[in-house]
Amino acid sequence: MSKIKCTVLECQYNKNVMCEAPMIQVNHNGVKSSMDPQETQCDTFKQKI
Ligand code: SF4
Repeated sequence: MSKIKCTVLECQYNKNVMCEAPMIQVNHNGVKSSMDPQETQCDTFKQKI
């Protein structure tokens, strides 16, 4: 998988500002057609326990 840098440190897949999930799923964020990064979101996020 591509290297994914992610600043969402509270995600359990985050290690040293990098994503270590085997795969991630990114979806639209409340819109039908995204026009900028704010309109996408990582749905693989899982809060650290
Ligand atoms: S799963 Fe998503 S939110 Fe979590 S570290 Fe990876 S890219 Fe970031």
